[in-house]
Amino acid sequence: MSLENLEPIVSLAKRRGFIFQSSEIYGGLSSCYDYGPLGVELKNNVKRAWWKAMVQERNDVVGLDAAILMHPKTWEASGHIAGFTDPLVDCKDCKKRWRADHLLEAKGIKPDFRPCEWDKHNVVCPDCGGDLTDVRKFNLMFKTFMGALEDNTSQIYLRPETCQGIYVNFLNVQQSMRKKIPFGVAQIGKAFRNEITPGNFTFRTREFEQMEQQYFIHPDQKKEVFEMWKKARMQWYLDFGMKKENLQFRQHKSDELAHYAAEAWDIEYNYPGMGFKELAGIHDRGNWDLSRHSEYSGQDLSYFDQEKNEKFIPHIVETSDGADRATLAFLIDAYEEIDARSGSDDAKHEKEYVLRLHKDLAPIKIAILPLSKKEPLQNLSNEIQNSLRGTWMTQHDETGSIGKRYRRQDEIGTPYCVTVDFDSLEDKKVTVRDRDTMEQERVDIGELKDYFNSKFYN
Ligand code: ATP
Repeated sequence: MSLENLEPIVSLAKRRGFIFQSSEIYGGLSSCYDYGPLGVELKNNVKRAWWKAMVQERNDVVGLDAAILMHPKTWEASGHIAGFTDPLVDCKDCKKRWRADHLLEAKGIKPDFRPCEWDKHNVVCPDCGGDLTDVRKFNLMFKTFMGALEDNTSQIYLRPETCQGIYVNFLNVQQSMRKKIPFGVAQIGKAFRNEITPGNFTFRTREFEQMEQQYFIHPDQKKEVFEMWKKARMQWYLDFGMKKENLQFRQHKSDELAHYAAEAWDIEYNYPGMGFKELAGIHDRGNWDLSRHSEYSGQDLSYFDQEKNEKFIPHIVETSDGADRATLAFLIDAYEEIDARSGSDDAKHEKEYVLRLHKDLAPIKIAILPLSKKEPLQNLSNEIQNSLRGTWMTQHDETGSIGKRYRRQDEIGTPYCVTVDFDSLEDKKVTVRDRDTMEQERVDIGELKDYFNSKFYN
């Protein structure tokens, strides 16, 4: 089943506590979102899975958590003050703002913003048909002020990408960890961009989270390393259950490369109603970043290879994934609307919703469902939950019919439900139900932990 648009996901996200509009009681803050109780679990699991694959399971990558606020010279060196802009046009009538490149692309025209070229295209406001202004460059960085004075000397920026925190710490990390090239530094953190046309739910927001890794290499290693990371990043999405047909690579054409990039590939996901759009990127950044930071800081950021007796400025292959875009893509990919598969004929339900999330990503791993709210079943189900909650995220649900409770758990992607019934008091067994197969098994309460260990870790 493929969705036509994001509406069912937006609705599920709100209904079941995954994602809410930010500041909703004040009418909402445009393109900012809050992760609810289940959303924060899902997103944390996505980040944990990324960290495990990128840091824990590798000897050549270490982690970092750099500050969001950085010395303003960072952004001069990185080229963001001069070049991190989008082409902006305003509608002279309705005052709405648009990305000029998106307007041209929508008409099948390759973006070109030389003034006379832009005029020639006769583009009008897509909303009201009004005339548009000339194209202006709009810097996407959020400005703020540090300290009590609001003047130019105290102006700083919220970082628009996390990787700069890695570059300025290159020597700190390399020396303290005695790392030899090639090695990588990984980081997860917030980034901020004053996007002109945000939208499509959490796909394009002004505050978002990146999962970035910078791999420092000798330029001779480039081809091999680039291929290694391209393969590894795509495989990661497949390993966590994303459907192959919803993923593709796209290489950036030379005229769309960012100012620092020599080669760039996107991993694209087929977002409903949007088509294939960027989920992650793999970039060859050359030695642009460390050269520029050497120049602007006056610190020598080169690396000395003792074996080869060679000094050079390392080149960088970057992998850049969006935690929010990945979380959204995992939600979409796992979402299924199916015709009633449970209940007796007269109790059939029109539609059931199942989130077939990978077990590692599911927000709740095990739901405990006692058939009665009263003692002694309550006591027993509390004991069972307490024996499992130290290892897995659990939820206790005691309201509604058992069928309703199964469907509630299916809808949030819980892989297993444990039903505690009156027989459990006698035979010390519970029924474990599988989300995907709906198969039910009687399992000894004393063996539940081993049972789930084999289910989750095999
Ligand atoms: P786009 O072309 O969609 O604007 P980008 O090329 O500017 O993206 P990068 O600078 O390569 O994106 O950022 C790396 C990753 O960060 C992206 O692949 C995406 O997952 C995420 N990302 C970038 N901008 C946003 C945003 N506004 N909202 C949510 N995630 C974002």
